[in-house]
Amino acid sequence: MDRGEKRNLWSALGNGLRGRCPRCGRAALFRSYLKQVDSCPECHENWSEIRSDDAAPWLTILIVGHVMAPVMIAMSKSGRFAPWEMSAILIPVLIGLCLLVLPRAKALFMGAIWALRAQSS
Ligand SMILES: [Zn+2]
Repeated sequence: MDRGEKRNLWSALGNGLRGRCPRCGRAALFRSYLKQVDSCPECHENWSEIRSDDAAPWLTILIVGHVMAPVMIAMSKSGRFAPWEMSAILIPVLIGLCLLVLPRAKALFMGAIWALRAQSS
């Protein structure tokens, strides 16, 4: 790893959002749903020391909450849905959105941490 290389934050964030290595964008960043690879098979960047910790769940809740709160309020105010109907619709949607956003949020923070050289080690 070259400590003096110039790192582009926006490129790292974009690659991370696509689930790709924030450095090169050519290989997958995760080997399973949320388990990052130890190092990139293409550029050999070490990803094992970069941890986003609680930032990814925080961002996931922030995004999903802001997307779904207006929907929940609109459904509630419309009076068309019984509480059990709202639960039957909203709970799977909320779970699905969280599952969709969480790995992208983790990759986004990993890209930012790498680009800004902010890892704690
Ligand atoms: Zn790479």
